[in-house]
Amino acid sequence: MRRAIPILLALCALIAPLVLAVSAADKIRVVTTIPDLKALTEEVGAKLVDVESLARGTQNAHELEVRPSLMLKLRRADILIENGLDLDSWAEVAVQGANNSKIVRGAPGRVDVSRGIQVLDVPGTRVDRSMGDVHPLGNPHYSLDPGMAPIITQNIADGLARFAPEHRATFEKNRQAFLARLDEAMARWTKALEPLKGAKVVVYHPQWIYILHRFGLNQAAALEDRPGIPASPAHLTRVIRQMKEERIKVIIVEPWNDLKLATRVADEAGARAVVLASMVGGVKGADSYIAAIDHNVNALAQALR
Ligand SMILES: [Zn+2]
Repeated sequence: MRRAIPILLALCALIAPLVLAVSAADKIRVVTTIPDLKALTEEVGAKLVDVESLARGTQNAHELEVRPSLMLKLRRADILIENGLDLDSWAEVAVQGANNSKIVRGAPGRVDVSRGIQVLDVPGTRVDRSMGDVHPLGNPHYSLDPGMAPIITQNIADGLARFAPEHRATFEKNRQAFLARLDEAMARWTKALEPLKGAKVVVYHPQWIYILHRFGLNQAAALEDRPGIPASPAHLTRVIRQMKEERIKVIIVEPWNDLKLATRVADEAGARAVVLASMVGGVKGADSYIAAIDHNVNALAQALR
């Protein structure tokens, strides 16, 4: 009997990694283009999914270099979740290099979460990338507006359930639990920004229109001449003049923008440049969906006060 225990332990040690390996292999392999969608997919899929994001939170999601490492991630994916609205059109190049029929456009494993989003900043006239404008289909930066999370997570849950219909109820239960937590946070954010309703801000890149609208704040100008087009001196002079005239106190900057330039403009206008998390993981501490919005709302409220 005494000899049986070490044998049993040895057996356990042998089997445990096998069990782990099997459960990892059982998970639905999801790749998302941006980390906001990774965070939301993990809320909906929880233990049933293994999620990787192609872009990191500090990067400019408009311009990701498509490397072989991205294609490798996509090669083994069951599902690819994308932001759409031309933000992550580089993903198409990576998909073509990945040779995975599950995630080609039109396949059930390709999920565009912009379905059902009411798009803002849709250009009145036709613009395309040859003019340098990176928002040809309207503003694609809706993912960190908490009011959009119900639609995005619905699209994610539908996509996951297409792949694993037997888990549909679990995805929906996880989604509802997350949305309940988000609702609580929403009350906190609304309270923090309520006294600042109507305040104007200047943005570096027009990344914030959805969340500004949500809480009754206004984008007065952008430092970029047009979305994706670097600021010209003449344009900056106009913005500084406008900021002084309208007493605008804040310039919102993304982690990938030229902070020195934004700070110089802010100094001249008597304002402050504030770096917000343009995506989950964009700044320290913004490592979940709710934490990223917490950071942004608090930083904004503090700067505007
Ligand atoms: Zn943009």
